[in-house]
Amino acid sequence: MAPSALPAEQETVAELTNNGIELNVSKTAPSISKAVTPEVPQLAELDASRLEVNLTTSPRPVPGIGSPEMASQKTCTDHMITATWTAESGWGAPQLKPYGPFSLMPTSSVLHYATECFEGMKLYRGYDGKLRLFRPNLNCNRMLMSTNRIALPAFPPTELQKLIMALCAQDGAKWLPKDRPGHFLYIRPTMIGTDSALGVQRPTEAMLFILLTCFAPMDDIPGGMRLLASQDDMIRAWPGGFGYAKVGANYGPSLVAQGEARRLGYHQILWLFGEECVVTEAGASNFFVVWRTREGALQLVTADLKERIVLDGVTRRSVLEFAREKLTQGYKGLEKVEVVERRFVMQEVVEAAEEGRLVEAFGAGTAWFIAPVGHVHFRGRDFEVPMVEGECGRYTKVVKEALRGVMYGEKGYEGHEWGVVVEEK
Ligand SMILES: *Cc1c(COP(=O)(O)O)cnc(C)c1O
Repeated sequence: MAPSALPAEQETVAELTNNGIELNVSKTAPSISKAVTPEVPQLAELDASRLEVNLTTSPRPVPGIGSPEMASQKTCTDHMITATWTAESGWGAPQLKPYGPFSLMPTSSVLHYATECFEGMKLYRGYDGKLRLFRPNLNCNRMLMSTNRIALPAFPPTELQKLIMALCAQDGAKWLPKDRPGHFLYIRPTMIGTDSALGVQRPTEAMLFILLTCFAPMDDIPGGMRLLASQDDMIRAWPGGFGYAKVGANYGPSLVAQGEARRLGYHQILWLFGEECVVTEAGASNFFVVWRTREGALQLVTADLKERIVLDGVTRRSVLEFAREKLTQGYKGLEKVEVVERRFVMQEVVEAAEEGRLVEAFGAGTAWFIAPVGHVHFRGRDFEVPMVEGECGRYTKVVKEALRGVMYGEKGYEGHEWGVVVEEK
């Protein structure tokens, strides 16, 4: 074997995944890479300014509010955006085109090895008539992180955001009309490995696509969400794994347990980790509790991100930032809370519930938004979570109102930096 085929000694280090990610960025998105790799030829990067537009000639009707089509989560808007990548030439010009099926070879990497990652965002129709995204830069950055983790090509996150905004601008006016303030469309940016070589390897071809779909709100559940704590036979994420990335591989294997939970009358699984039953997330939402410590302090608590078994949710981050800014000071006559990000275990939640110290609990994520939790089942025991203001706890309520305010440009939140206005066509 030629000596040049052997890896240099300093490259045979333990950090294979981290090294691979660095190299991926330097090869496929050199403009955002921190590494200098002059020997690598520069390939075309993802570039939203090259967007080619081909509008539909058969536009479809918009489903009515509350209709079965709306609830089906199958109705997408008239258009989608796609962009393809190959290892030889990099990213091709993105296409805005009619929404519809695309063809893949049966040997495509994604169909065998789950080379897929995605994002979940919403386009909001404001009470001031404007269309907004909520902190889209955070989703685009996270999509890049997930992409890198699952061996797909990198891109400048700002270019992805421009493409998302272009699709929203195209379809927003029709599919989220001005007479539907307080409504939203769900945005799903996705990347898949389309390489048709069946070998188990990094894909040398990939496709990015972005779609907009109709979606009914899920955060108003009478009595709050009912959570079923996970059992020892299923772990969502583990240290050294990939629970922190939004890769499809995290979700498929959880659907058996989730389906059983639904069948038994629960909305979501409360995912626990390890023998100590560390509390991590509720379904595909982050999980928060408000409790009073035995010392008397009122705390808003959520799992920390240190072991990378919890997804760094945009909603989670926003709740924490809002709570640190406002709720620690005493807000709207509410008692001050301490904001705590730490590892906590189910036993602490059980004790708080038994000793009357559990105040509230809620899930936080784009899909379910801020969803109050009313009930938790853990290993044969049921715990009710107080829901002070009718259907919602007081802290849950102010958090929800503040984030909603930004999303829908409500009075007092119009120019908030978290709300990014989309200029519609
Ligand atoms: C998407 C997701 C969340 C929520 O993240 P947001 O950015 O707030 O939507 C939380 N947990 C998991 C596992 C998720 O997939």
